[in-house]
Formats: sequence, C-alpha cells, structure tokens
Amino acid sequence: MNTYDFGLFVIGAGSGGVRASRIAAAYGAKVAVAEEYRLGGTCVIRGCVPKKLMMYASQFGMALEDSKGFGWRVSEASHKWESLIRTKDAEVTRLEQVYGQLLGKGGVEVIKGRATIAGPHEVRVNDVSFTAKHILVATGATPEIPEIPGAELMVTSNEVLAMERAPERVAIVGGGYIACEFAGIFKGLGSKVWMVHRGSRLLRGFDEQVREHIGDELAANDIQMRLASTVAAIERTRDGYLVYLGSGEILEVDLVMAATGRRPNTGSLGLERVGVQVDARGAIPVDSYSRTACDHVYAVGDVTNRLNLTPVAIHEGHAFADTVFGNTPRQTDHRDVPFAVFSQPQVAAVGLTEEEACAKHGGVNVYSSVFRPMRAALSGRNERVLVKLIADAENGRILGAHIVAPDAAEIIQGIAIALKAGATKADFDATLGVHPSAAEEFVTLRNARYSTSPRS
Ligand code: NDP
Repeated sequence: MNTYDFGLFVIGAGSGGVRASRIAAAYGAKVAVAEEYRLGGTCVIRGCVPKKLMMYASQFGMALEDSKGFGWRVSEASHKWESLIRTKDAEVTRLEQVYGQLLGKGGVEVIKGRATIAGPHEVRVNDVSFTAKHILVATGATPEIPEIPGAELMVTSNEVLAMERAPERVAIVGGGYIACEFAGIFKGLGSKVWMVHRGSRLLRGFDEQVREHIGDELAANDIQMRLASTVAAIERTRDGYLVYLGSGEILEVDLVMAATGRRPNTGSLGLERVGVQVDARGAIPVDSYSRTACDHVYAVGDVTNRLNLTPVAIHEGHAFADTVFGNTPRQTDHRDVPFAVFSQPQVAAVGLTEEEACAKHGGVNVYSSVFRPMRAALSGRNERVLVKLIADAENGRILGAHIVAPDAAEIIQGIAIALKAGATKADFDATLGVHPSAAEEFVTLRNARYSTSPRS
C-alpha cells in the first residue's frame, strides 16, 4: 500500500482551497495547503472584501451631496485616501489571521511558498517535495492587461487597493464587473472618471435592458462614458498620462486602470506532468465533481473558469471534500446562482436574461418597471431604479429576476430563494410588499410584455 505525506495537498489558500482543506481535515484527512502570498486569496486580500470597504467609503460622498435636500448643512467635508487604505488594510490583516486560525484549529498544515506539481502524487514547495494521495488546485486568477503600446503604465485592481494617493483623474479600461465597481469607488471619492470600453454597452452577458440602464445611470452620475472606444496607446507625461483613444480623442489623467478580465493562474504549475491540459483561456477543464483529466487531481474556483464568484468556489471546494473524503458525492449546481455588481447603483440578477429566456423557451412574459427611488424626491439626484422579471409564458415560472438599484445585492438574495424554489408569477403576486421600498416592486409588477426575440 502506498503511504503519502498527506491525504490532500491543496495549492492555494483562497476561498475554495481553504474551505476544501477544512472540510477534508474534518473528515479525518491529513491536509496541507500551500500559499505563496497571503491566506484568504483574492476575495479577502485583493477582491471582494477590500473592494466593498472602499465602496462603502465612496458612498459617503454621494450621501453628503444628497443630504442637502434633507436639510443637512455639511461644511468642509474632505476625504483622506491614505487613512482609508490604512483602516482597510488593518481589516484585511484581521481576516487573514482569522483564516490562519481556522486552518490551524482544523489541523490543516499551512506551507508558505509557491507550489508546483512535480509528478503524480508529488508537489514541490521551495525545493521541498511532498507526496499526497489527492491534489487540489485552487490557485484562482490574476488580472490581465491588454497588449497596447504603454500597457506597462497601467495598474490593475491589485495596485489600486494599495495606492497611497487618490488620483484626481482616472481612466478605466474595460466594461465588466471590476470596471463598473471601481468607476463608482473613484467617483464617490472625488476623482473625475472616464470609462473606456470597447463594447457599445457595459457588462456583456447581462440582460440587455439592464446593460442599457446601468450605462445611463453611470453617465447620469457624471462618469464620462467612452463606449465603442478602444485605447490606441498610453504615454507618460511629466505629471500624469495621456490615453490616446481610437477615435482620436486624448484623455489626460493621473491613473490608467486596466479592468479587462482575469486569467486563471495555471502558468508553470506543472499540470503537464500529470497529463492535465489547460483550455484556450488557461483554465483547467474539470467534470461536475471538479475532477481533472488526472484521476486524483481536482481543481475548484476561478482556476477552472466556470462561474468566477466566491460562493461558487466555496461550494465547489466543499462539494469536492464531501465527495472525496466524506463519502457523499456532491456537485455544485451552477444554475440560478445570484450575483451582484457593486457599482453605484448596484446591478443584481438571478436566472436567465430576457435574451437567454427567449432563446430557451421561445416566448416569455416580461414585466419591468423603471422608477425614481423615493430618496431622489428630496435629494434631487437624477437616478432611476430598474426592476425586471421574466416568466415562462406557459406556466408562469419565474426564469429571471434583475434589478439595478442601491442595495440591489441585498434584494436579490431573497428573490434567488424564490427562483430556486420554482416560484411562479402568481406566487410573486400573492406576496405582499414591504412599503415603502424599492424591493416591493418585485411583487407589484403588472402588464406583461410578450417577448420572443432578443432586444438589440
Ligand atoms: P469581466 O470579464 O467582467 O470584464 C472584462 C472587461 O474587459 C469586459 O468589458 C471586456 O470587454 C473588456 N476587455 C477584455 N479584454 C479586453 C481588451 N483586450 N481590450 C479592451 N477591453 C477588454 O472581468 P473583470 O476583470 O471585471 O472581472 C473578472 C471576473 O471576476 C468577473 O467576470 C466576475 O466573474 C468576477 N468578479 C466578480 C465580482 C462580484 O461578484 N461583484 C467583482 C469583481 C469580479 P468585452 O465585454 O467586450 O469582452
């Protein structure tokens, strides 16, 4: 019988890797997790957590402006970026320590250093070899920078979260999650912001009506939209950067941020030594149990590029541990996973877009409402909320729910339970609203529009 140093060796102590380690150890496995940077991974160290703290910070700017309509007089409000970074860093460090304690208490051995797969059942960290019965790759993803002249002058979300000073003028390249979220953060903290996006609408893959609406909302919030625009080159000047757009326009800014997608961290991991080939995006192909082409090597989270969200990685890691160490085969259901973009306003959704629903079901009933939130009545802010439901035209089952609103993320979580439970439009109609709220619109929508063809 083979004896190994560990029953499970996990590469990467992010959301998926840590959950898998702890659960496998709780089942009695001897577990090691290797991490080259800091415990907690992207979500805790340079993603969800610090981003959300910065989003909160940025919202006070808007609240201060809006407060005037409610009778407040605030004089001399100013923001100290470096003080925010300090308190945010302290919170991230606290969470990192909590992760360390959880792993320690769970009996998981943490090995600091970059791990590579050295052979079947063998992992090497800092020139030390370890053997393991199972290997789990949970190395996440990393920001990708487009290939344009001057690309080396761009920063990514990694650097922005550690910057010492706020830029007065910033150009953000990209139109996805990170671009929309950081546009709101910079704007709320006082920067002038340009979003330069190659597409004609933001957030590809989202419902088209939502995409149109969020673009209009960001523009109404004074974010300078440059849609269907490319960056031809970036040049450093004495006191900033020049961003040359394909249209001929030149933006003068203090910071250029690339928010142009993330690439799975599979480079020089040694996957070829166990016969695992990555796909064109660099992701590790896995089956529904997160197993790779090599029987005893598994992968979870962003490195597999399935649905790149923290709760998904955590679920995949947990399901892997249940399957392999808990004798309870379990898969992650990637359908109807709710998600939110923490832009300002937020965008949140669960289920199908109108376009996907039409393609899948032929005809659907679409209910939507665009309205001015109550707060805007006194703040005077030019903002609109969008609430949208898509129902199967035959049986009324809700196929998709979408909302663009402040606190949209908080609202969609409850709606996601209804979708998962198979709720119909009649169930929504039978539910009374919470008044006055934006969320109540989900249960008061009337007047269906029958839709069979995607909007353009
Ligand atoms: P996204 O894939 O969301 O967006 C990337 C953007 O960059 C797109 O608008 C894309 O345009 C554009 N782009 C890509 N390549 C180029 C290029 N060469 N030149 C110009 N533009 C380009 O990636 P993000 O980096 O914003 O986020 C990565 C992932 O991380 C998200 O998809 C999400 O899964 C996750 N995430 C989740 C968050 C949350 O849950 N709140 C927050 C942040 C990230 P096009 O649309 O035309 O391809």
